[in-house]
Amino acid sequence: QAKQQGRGILRFFSPELTDRAKARLALEAELRHAIEGDELRLYYQPQTDLVSGETVGLEGLVRWHHPERGMIPPGDFIPLAEESGLVVALGDWVLHTACRQIKTWLDAGLAPRRTAVNVSAVQLSRDHLIESVKHALRETGIPPERLELEITESFVIADREQSFKALAELRALGVRLSIDDFGTGYSSLAYLQHIEIHELKIDISFVRDVTTNTSNASIVKAIIALGHSLGSEIVAEGVETQAQADYLRALHCDLMQGYLVSRPLPVEEITRFLSRAGATPRDTSR
Ligand code: C2E
Ligand code: MG
Ligand code: MG
Ligand code: MG
Repeated sequence: QAKQQGRGILRFFSPELTDRAKARLALEAELRHAIEGDELRLYYQPQTDLVSGETVGLEGLVRWHHPERGMIPPGDFIPLAEESGLVVALGDWVLHTACRQIKTWLDAGLAPRRTAVNVSAVQLSRDHLIESVKHALRETGIPPERLELEITESFVIADREQSFKALAELRALGVRLSIDDFGTGYSSLAYLQHIEIHELKIDISFVRDVTTNTSNASIVKAIIALGHSLGSEIVAEGVETQAQADYLRALHCDLMQGYLVSRPLPVEEITRFLSRAGATPRDTSR
């Protein structure tokens, strides 16, 4: 099917574009192979309470361990996955992998309160996502509130009606909802009015020079005030220095995520991190 599409496209392209189109098709085929095979890995990065230092959550971030090209970061293949529709299969893999890992950590008494995965707009625009989340929860038996879905703000706006409906259905399943890269999308903020959002993530671009750039500091303050008044928790992304952490704590930001605490780590290493932290009391509620 992709080949047929490819042929159709190639006919109208100039020679140099044909080369690029060919390279894209090759990469797409490789990505399909990677999803079906064993080349994807989910890394995890801690989200830390700015006051207690407890590891409250994790974010799963996908990596592609390419047999020849080495590790490929998501920024280099997620856009292609979205354009080709492969992100649906990739998203299924991520959901199931994360839920199985949550189950393993729950059984070991190591699970933080929740673990997030990123969800693409393309997934959100298809009914399949709800089924996929339900299936992953049913298959693993984890409590839905252990799973969090990070949705990028611009995506929410893409197809408003369908996105609102999908968010409401996900909300009804009991999973947590987080708005990623908050403040960077073409936000109408309308979805905040319609759906209970558990978490807002302040984009790294506002956090980077929050201690020195007064307009960024104002934006961060405004996001924290807005989020708190709506009952959402606030996570600062990309916290790299102690000065940023101290500043964010003073502004009553709830959580931080970034290299200051840890880079995203493969599963064995993050499991060691969780055991060392010992910040997660054995869960006796189940
Ligand atoms: P994101 O969800 O906003 O993830 C945060 C990105 O910031 C990650 O990049 C993370 O490694 C990076 N980061 C964390 N702490 C720091 C820091 O202190 N400094 C700096 N400079 N960067 C930091 P990564 O892993 O390359 O992911 C990039 C984007 O790719 C993600 O942005 C997300 O939009 C997308 N992505 C990653 N995994 C998935 C996935 O499984 N599915 C989908 N649909 N998208 C994904
Ligand atoms: Mg994210
Ligand atoms: Mg994020
Ligand atoms: Mg982000």
